[in-house]
Parts: sequence; C-alpha cells; structure tokens
Amino acid sequence: MSVETQKETLGFQTEVKQLLHLMIHSLYSNKEIFLRELISNASDAVDKLRFEALSKPELLEGGAELKIRVSFDKDAKTVTIEDNGIGMSRDDAVAHLGTIAKSGTADFMKNLSGDQKKDSHLIGQFGVGFYSAFIVADKVEVFSRRAGLDASEGVHWSSKGEGEFEIATVDKADRGTRIVLHLKSGENEFADGWRLRNIVKKYSDHIALPIELPKEQAAAEGEEVPAQEWEVVNRASALWTRPRTEIKDEEYQEFYKHIGHDYENPLSWSHNKVEGKLEYNSLLYVPARAPFDLYQREAPRGLKLYVQRVFVMDQAESFLPLYLRFIKGVVDSNDLSLNVSREILQKDPIIDSMKSALTKRVLDMLEKLAKNEPEQYKGFWKNFGQVMKEGPAEDFANKEKIAGLLRFASTQDDDGEQVVSLAEYLARAKEGQDKIYYLTGETYAQVKNSPHLEVFRKKGIEVLLLTDRIDEWLMSYLNEFDGKPFVDVARGDLDLGNLDSEEEKKEAEEVAKSNEGLVERIKASLGDAVSEVRVSHRLTDSPAILAIGEQDLGMQMRQILEASGQKVPDSKPIFEFNPAHPLIEKLDGEPSEERFGDLSHILFDQAALAAGDSLKDPAAYVRRLNKLLVELSV
Ligand code: ADP
Ligand code: MG
Repeated sequence: MSVETQKETLGFQTEVKQLLHLMIHSLYSNKEIFLRELISNASDAVDKLRFEALSKPELLEGGAELKIRVSFDKDAKTVTIEDNGIGMSRDDAVAHLGTIAKSGTADFMKNLSGDQKKDSHLIGQFGVGFYSAFIVADKVEVFSRRAGLDASEGVHWSSKGEGEFEIATVDKADRGTRIVLHLKSGENEFADGWRLRNIVKKYSDHIALPIELPKEQAAAEGEEVPAQEWEVVNRASALWTRPRTEIKDEEYQEFYKHIGHDYENPLSWSHNKVEGKLEYNSLLYVPARAPFDLYQREAPRGLKLYVQRVFVMDQAESFLPLYLRFIKGVVDSNDLSLNVSREILQKDPIIDSMKSALTKRVLDMLEKLAKNEPEQYKGFWKNFGQVMKEGPAEDFANKEKIAGLLRFASTQDDDGEQVVSLAEYLARAKEGQDKIYYLTGETYAQVKNSPHLEVFRKKGIEVLLLTDRIDEWLMSYLNEFDGKPFVDVARGDLDLGNLDSEEEKKEAEEVAKSNEGLVERIKASLGDAVSEVRVSHRLTDSPAILAIGEQDLGMQMRQILEASGQKVPDSKPIFEFNPAHPLIEKLDGEPSEERFGDLSHILFDQAALAAGDSLKDPAAYVRRLNKLLVELSV
C-alpha cells in the first residue's frame, strides 16, 4: 500500500446522512442493486472520458481498452468494481461523495415524514446512486485518479457510512476509479463469481462497454494456480442501436434506470431509428413518478446526447420543449459534429427539426398509453398533468394533440379526479350542444357547488371543473377542440344556443322585460360596484350571481398577476338575479329604499362569496346582515 498524505476526516452533508439512513432501511429487500448503481457510475465515467479525450487525446494515457472489472475476494469478504474512466480528483471525491449536488435537495429532505414506509417511496425520486454501496458494505473504500493528473495525485476516500468519511492523497498509477466494498457480515453471498455474474447480466447487460469478471478456473491438484484471466459477461453494445424486436422489456427498463437515475420502472418508452435526410436513433421514456424538482427552474432536464455512439452531453435541453421536461432518454445523431456545444445546439436548424419530430414521438407515445392503458395514464396525469397544461401555450403547432391528452374533473364525476378527456366529453354531449362548457375556481368544493352550474344541472349538461392554478391561463390558449369552442360558464351573457328551446328563449325575453324596473332600481343601489345588472337565466336555486365580463380577467389570473406585483386593470362584475327566488320577490316589493339598498348589497356580497372571492368591505356586509337579522327577530 502506498503512502497516504494529507489525511483528513470530514462530515457528510446532513442530507447525505438522511439519505444513507433511508436507503439502508428501505432497500434491504433488493440489496443487489448496489452493483447496478456502481456499474452505472463507472459507465458514466467512461463516457465522460471518451468525450473529453476527443479534444485531449492525451487523457487516454496510452489507450488501453475502456472497460469495467468486477472482482471479489472470498476470504477478505470484499467486492471490487474498477473502471478506467475519467476518475476523480481529491476535490471531486469530497464534492461528489460527500454531498448531494441536486438543487432543492435540502427542501426535499425536510419533507421526509420519518415514517419509513412512506419515505421509502421517496427514494425513487432520487435514484439511489453511489451511497447504495452501504446497503451491503459496512466500509467502502474508493481509490481514484482523474485522467490527466499526475500519478501522485490519486485520492483514497473511505467511510463506514456513519456520518463521516476519511480522505487522503495517494499514488495511483492507473487513471480511473476502484471501489472496494467490505461486505457486512451476512452479505458474504456477494463475494461469489456466479452471483455477481448473474447480477451483472440482470441489470447491466445494456451497458455499452465490456464488463469483465474473473474467469472461473479451478487449478488441478498440485498444479500452480493459473494467472488471472478475465471474461466479458455483458452484451456490451449500445442498447439503442440494436433492433427493437431483439430487445426485451427488462432490458429497456434497466437501461432507463441507468440513464434516468431512477429506481422505478418507466411507464412507457418509444424507440426509433430515423433514416433519410437526418439520421438518428432515439429512445425516449416516460417516468412513472414526477421528480421532486419538476417545478424548479434550474432543475436538470433534457436528453443524453450521443454523436455516432460517442457520449457528448447530459441534459441536452434543446431536443424537447419545456413542457416535456420530464421525459428521459437518449438521442444519438449521425449528423451533428462531435464538438457540438450547448450554444450551437440552440441555434442549429437540424436540432429544430429533430425537436419537432421527437416532440411528436412523445405525444404519440402518450396517446398510445392513454388509449391502451388508461389506468397507467391516470397515474401519468396525476404526476405530470400540470406540466402538460403548459403545452398549448408553448407548443402552438401541437395544440390540438396536447388538448386531446388533457384530463379534467367534471360535473359528471363526483370525486374531483381529473379523468375526463375532451373527446369523451364531446362523445356524451347533449344533442344540439356545440360548445365545451367549463368553470374555473380555487377549489373543487367551491366550483362543484357554484350557482353558475344550476342551469347546467337542470338541463343535464356536463361542465368541466378546473381548479389548478394554471387552468385559466391554459384556457386562454385553448379556443376550441374538434371545432367546438370552449365557453366559460361564469363569463359574459351565457348563450346556451340550441340547448334552449324556442319557448324557453321567448319566456326569458318576457321575464327580462317584466323586470326592467327592478333592474334599474338595483343598478341605482349598487352603483359603481357593478358594470351591469340583468336578469339571469343561469340560476334555478340561488337568488343572485356575479358573472365576469367577456373580456375581463378571471379571478385566478387576477390573483396570479397581483401576487407577482403587477398592476391589474380594475374590472367590475355583472350582477345577475333570479326573479323567481323568494328573496328577489321580497326585494322587488320592498318599499323602503334603505332596506332595498341593504338587501341588494347583501345579495351582491353573497354572490361574491359564493364565487370564492373576498369582500371589499366585509365589515359593511356584516353590519347590513346583522341589521336585517335584528329586524327579523323583533
Ligand atoms: P449520479 O450517478 O446520479 O450522479 P451517484 O450517487 O451515483 O449519483 O454518483 C455521484 C457522483 O460521484 C457522480 O455524479 C460522479 O461525479 C461521482 N462518481 C461516482 N462514481 C464514479 C466513478 N466510478 N468515476 C468517476 N466519478 C464517479
Ligand atoms: Mg449514479
């Protein structure tokens, strides 16, 4: 063993300690995955070396074949994983093996409940990574040297996984990383060639470089033990270059876990080879679960980019639109240059046409999932629905396709789950219905019971109920689907078109006429608070309602803009009343102007409350109401 210098003991970042604890306690039923993770890292390290060596061939240091070796020592109870990839410097090791670099991790960790069962699901959102070594080892040693550094600048990292690690500078002749696992007592089964070989075949067959294990060779009695021979145990070809028909589902799934740094299987994938003007292979995956940082701006996203099988960059963002940022995968181009940069990618017209083709692939894949596996699609929608709703605004060309993938809650279901597609809505629309009706609001409970729905309930017309923060914004980009316009039922002068019979229309006109006097009286009383007063044909049970002007901002948009500090144009609601309601009849017959004023203001405020809005002057509302209550009780 070479001399160690500059020895230090450092503490793990708090989040690492938590993650280690969580991992050791939640993954005990699938211990063998530690090998998959370490091989995955070794393969990444080789990819990085290959890429850096394009511009600095000297990094290859003589150019031995790039590979991974897995070996074991039954007596010492160790398993060793070695690669000749990019390696780590001392600083790299401290940074990468002592902290979790992902942004937002600390916030995420705060959400851990302490309930082992619940928390173990969260590990899927992280990918388990290097620390999974501690599932089977009670001591882990890493010997590494970064390509290009001097042999004297190797690093020796070691830890028992209990809050601290030691780090020292050592000599290391070969570039790359060697990881030695000292197995826990009870885990000796892993120091076995047959077992290791099976795990490699099971999880790492798709790794595109050779993974070697010692050749099993028994020395005959009395003979000298032969020198170590190695044999390749995986297929060692890039998965995405093989024909689809030859690849098993399990292989696709394992490959996803490797590139997606995910612990769970993907929901779906799409593997394609494109030939012609542009030539590329793509393999795209839909994850089963949203990562915790889906809404963080700086969170990593994008595909792994290869150029003619050579890894070029992670998180190439230019190949998919932002609303598909959750898609994981690989794209391998024959047209791009090996020294392509992010900046070039942003401008290259080749990328634009690849982007629109890949976007279509993803949307097709989601369509297929929705059609063939509706239950799975429900899960997808729960995880990614909100992001998909960003689509119509960002991707005008695919608006109709995206709209077809949207799912909504509706008056037809009463659990508030977003499961109704627009196609389904139209398929069961009433005869003569040529519009898609929807209502937006803060919460499901609020919209479900909104007075705006009364006439729809009476006529048995389905209304979509939209309560995500993004919904109003979404609807401002969706004008129609399948030729049918969207209509906000709380907006403007609701026209039910053919859904109202001639008689109903005539009757409505008559009612409006006979109430002209009352309209004027209420107008005079409410004054500036409203833009208009009119008889409603939306209501059956409630006395009054507030409608939004055709061109005015809805409540959600107003709140979003106000919260972001923008000045929002003042808009006044339309007050609509139901002349058949006893309270309105009473109002109409009220001789005292003062009581008329109080009652109409109360009705106005109540209508605002029912719409989920806040009152401009709540104290005045309470005062007026109490005045009436006192008068009632004497
Ligand atoms: P991830 O692979 O998702 O980045 P890991 O926990 O698996 O997370 O690994 C953490 C980091 O440690 C890697 O990103 C890499 O920088 C470094 N690392 C791990 N193994 C190796 C290796 N064999 N060679 C070089 N760097 C490595
Ligand atoms: Mg990893």
